[in-house]
Amino acid sequence: MSTAFGQSTVLGYPRIGANRELKKAVEAYWAGAIDATVLERTGATLRAEVWRTLRNARLDAIPSNTFSYYDHMLDTAVAVGAIPHRFARLGLSELDTYFAMARGVDAEPALELTKWFATNYHYLVPEIGPDTVFAPNPAKALREYGEARDLGVTTRPVLVGPATFLLLAKGDEPFARLDDLVDTYVGILASLAEAGVAWVQLDEPGYVADRSPAEIDALRRAYTRLGEATHRPRIFVATYFGDLGDALPALLATPVEAIGLDLVAGPGNLERLAAAGPLRGTTVVAGLVDGHNIWRTDLRAAVTAGATVAGLADHFAVSTSCSLLHVPVDLSVETRLDARLYERLAFARQKVDEVVLLGRALRDGTAHLPAPLPPAPAAWRNDDVRARLAALGPADRQRGGYGERAARQQERLRLPELPTTTIGSFPQTGELRRARAAHRAGTLDDAGYTARMRAEVEHVVRLQEQLGLDVLVHGEPERNDMVQYFGEQLDGFAATEHGWVQSYGSRCVRPPVIYGDVARPAPMTVEWSSYAQSLTGKPVKGMLTGPVTILAWSFVRDDQPLADTADQVALALRDECRDLEAAGIRVIQVDEPALRETLPLRAADHPAYLDWAVGAFRLATAGVADDTQIHTHLCYSEFGDVINAIDALDADVTSIEASRSKMEVLDDLAAIGYRRGVGPGVWDIHSPRVPSLDEVVEALRRAVAAVPARRLWVNPDCGLKTRAYPEVEASLRRLVAAAAEVRNR
Ligand code: GLN
Ligand code: ZN
Repeated sequence: MSTAFGQSTVLGYPRIGANRELKKAVEAYWAGAIDATVLERTGATLRAEVWRTLRNARLDAIPSNTFSYYDHMLDTAVAVGAIPHRFARLGLSELDTYFAMARGVDAEPALELTKWFATNYHYLVPEIGPDTVFAPNPAKALREYGEARDLGVTTRPVLVGPATFLLLAKGDEPFARLDDLVDTYVGILASLAEAGVAWVQLDEPGYVADRSPAEIDALRRAYTRLGEATHRPRIFVATYFGDLGDALPALLATPVEAIGLDLVAGPGNLERLAAAGPLRGTTVVAGLVDGHNIWRTDLRAAVTAGATVAGLADHFAVSTSCSLLHVPVDLSVETRLDARLYERLAFARQKVDEVVLLGRALRDGTAHLPAPLPPAPAAWRNDDVRARLAALGPADRQRGGYGERAARQQERLRLPELPTTTIGSFPQTGELRRARAAHRAGTLDDAGYTARMRAEVEHVVRLQEQLGLDVLVHGEPERNDMVQYFGEQLDGFAATEHGWVQSYGSRCVRPPVIYGDVARPAPMTVEWSSYAQSLTGKPVKGMLTGPVTILAWSFVRDDQPLADTADQVALALRDECRDLEAAGIRVIQVDEPALRETLPLRAADHPAYLDWAVGAFRLATAGVADDTQIHTHLCYSEFGDVINAIDALDADVTSIEASRSKMEVLDDLAAIGYRRGVGPGVWDIHSPRVPSLDEVVEALRRAVAAVPARRLWVNPDCGLKTRAYPEVEASLRRLVAAAAEVRNR
């Protein structure tokens, strides 16, 4: 049995299959259309395909246990026996218990779902407390290892490491359970060794964020203990998404045999490594190929960085910066991309080739590397946009004073106290989706499509009038997705046909690619908003997606600062705002649900990020007159770290998810002296449940206690597109009634 790590590896590979086979199989299983045996057969086929692909690409260290029916954090919870009692007691099969934790069952809500670091992947949050009983359950890892071995492929099982697992868990002091959990990992490692496993990969990305000295010391102790275990495979601790900081020397002080560093998102790792002194045999696995973006690697630059690492370590290997889970499977199936863009892209399959090439080049020299890419085509440059950006000054991001604006807006809008509104989308019925699909396929012509969408807009407007809402929306029936919709209309964006990436469970997204300068050839939303406005005397909100969210949910060019790309998007939105205004739209909402989610992992990097993120939003919105009311909308997160930024956005009104957290965000806003309008969500739209009148009144009472009524808006937590009409009508009726009741007090 060889003990060398190998010279090339990847930290993980997409598991959904080239045609989203996993999504289809899992959903069929949930729907009762296939049984567990068929689902498991699909899983086995997909796993085998990945191993064969990696072997045929001549990657020499191949991971396993990176497959998952839902999520790898959930898999790790199962591997350490951390199945909360509330699920264990249901008495379901192993597989159904697993899915119950992931999706909930009638009586038992699912584990919480939250973002995996700064990616668009979401993991299930393990529930760990003082009474959690850990017990090693290496069955899945062993099964996958055995399956691969039967195919002639030796693999390295991957698990989330114990420290990160607990750092990401919730409950009563999960991290206090580290010693117990490490004992469980000792048991898992022993079983793996017993089965002949030579290397195991334990992922500890939790340490690229700010960690206390105690947490770093706990990491050192955990891996010292694991390293001292007598019966174990060699341990590879993988880290990714940034700089490891002080955790790097801590890990180097343990007996682990290999450490993985992200040299794409964490360039500081190189200096740390150099400062660490002689590495006494530790293998350094250098993450040189970006696993979080879709651009081809500059192989010559990567060889230079790799050579630096090789000079510091006795043993070293080339890898991806993180798991390839975050990029689409295979570029070669794309048939509609511009050839000049195509040649600059690399998806998971292509990135494996890059890793292999880099490994060879570092051994044999760069003579066999493919020719460097030609410079980006001149046509991707837009000199007008660049000139506009260069000419911007602070005044372009500054509106008049809020007090004056608020007065003028009220004069024009004449809204009651506690105005009611919604966040934008109304239910996306099957019929609407079919109409959009038919239009795309060419079976529904433009006129037919427009007529269909207008009918929907009219229906939504009439419904809102009937319900008595104060500020209306057009309902967004024409939008497949709030980013894709704009990507399809802006220059500098490309859409892929098959570029799916797992978002969570069976849910996949297909992010657009921002490859060139962004510009708006024509208005994007004016037609729909002004049609809606023509139907009613009440104000209709224009509805746009903000620059930060557009970037967060796209693959973004990496040849210029994100700030510049964000400002280009902002200029396009600024023009759209002006056009909406000219068309008689008096209220414009610019959604930024991703503002919090792309916040850097380390606090030291927050100011620079918030500076450009807020700056881009202001650039997008500051071009309108004072009496045009700008709204923004935030959701999906806790807002503590961005609370000042919310104020700095300078929107007239911010609607914000709040119902689950019982309006806490209002206290946070009050604490920083936030003085503008705010619409805390009073109806949790993530569930089909219709809130009772009392609940909404109670939520509003809490809100009125924290915010003066004249600044308070009444709205749901988020858009209604995933809901059905019956619950939407019933809930909105309650919402309007609750506002009236609280108003009359
Ligand atoms: N306007 C969007 C909608 O209502 C906002 C969605 C979001 O915040 N994610 O669907
Ligand atoms: Zn939202």
